[in-house]
Amino acid sequence: MTASTSAPTAAQRLLQVGLVYAEPEARDSPRGQEILARFPGAEIVEVDSHWKIPELHGNEGNVERWVRVKTETLVLGVKKSLSARPNGRSADFIAPSTSNGCAMACAYCYVPRRKGYANPITVFTNIDKITRYLRGHVKRQGVKPEPDQIDPAAWVYDIGENSDCSVDALVSDNVADLVATFRDLPTAKASFATKFVNRELLDLDPQGRTRVRFSLMPERDARLLDIRTSSIPERIAAIDDFVEAGYEVHLNFSPVVLRPGGDRDWAELLTRLDDELSPATKAQAAVEVIMLTHNRDLHEVNLGWHPKAEDALWRPELQQAKRSQSGMWNVRYRNDVKRAGVQSIQDLIAAHAPWLRVRYAF
Ligand code: SF4
Repeated sequence: MTASTSAPTAAQRLLQVGLVYAEPEARDSPRGQEILARFPGAEIVEVDSHWKIPELHGNEGNVERWVRVKTETLVLGVKKSLSARPNGRSADFIAPSTSNGCAMACAYCYVPRRKGYANPITVFTNIDKITRYLRGHVKRQGVKPEPDQIDPAAWVYDIGENSDCSVDALVSDNVADLVATFRDLPTAKASFATKFVNRELLDLDPQGRTRVRFSLMPERDARLLDIRTSSIPERIAAIDDFVEAGYEVHLNFSPVVLRPGGDRDWAELLTRLDDELSPATKAQAAVEVIMLTHNRDLHEVNLGWHPKAEDALWRPELQQAKRSQSGMWNVRYRNDVKRAGVQSIQDLIAAHAPWLRVRYAF
């Protein structure tokens, strides 16, 4: 027998779980036990609530520390209150989350950071209750009365608002269970945006009832901002395979970051999509375009570890601040700047990838 010298896979680089904080009910549940069996060497620390783990806080300025926490730590919890929130943009409803947090570290990430800036993955283990709730919710909606930009016929449920489902699927079968649930729901679809290519998802047989939205931006921006994600060429190379495997595949141009030379790079990306994607992919493709929203606190944190990202994200001469409902100062492009940016991306799509229907752009 020879010792393996192969390089670690992307999944192995992303997750080497050595510490699991677990609520007792989550730890003892069948899903909790399956997850723990995937990481047999991990130390398990019992916690009263997945929201109250003070050890995860306080790493704002220390990126090595947060990346280590993201790589090595998992949290297991039980999702207490279940509801499907109306959305109206990327989906009709936001499904109750089966996880939150992320092992990647995009500089602009708005996924709630209530678990400290490291914000490692929390998996909710009561998946049976969540899928049961979803089946009931879908049934109560009946048939979608009329087509809209979200979907011509199905009620669409976003299953990944607070996480990246492709990475979550490395940790548990929650995503597989959701894909299986929607496979049997002819009036609904699951949907999630992703920046990670997990080819294990190709085996889940979604039968068209799960929409994956591959998130793309020019490579130059992704190299600066999309930390720990799959590269843009890798994401593009996966798209046709996901369509062939039975997913509906849309694109998500988000966030669009305005910068000098940006139009040229977006044109190059769109031309590449036009050259590389199959006719079958193009026939079902659509895109959502979302201009950057940034945040003052996140800006301060990023200055401590990734100031170059802030040269691109923090552009006070182009941006306006607005206090959010939660009291945070969010920063968006000024209305006139945003309008021009949205128009410019739409013009570029029309010129270089006219098959790409724009679902919405704002
Ligand atoms: S992949 Fe998504 S959830 Fe994860 S850090 Fe990036 S933006 Fe946040």
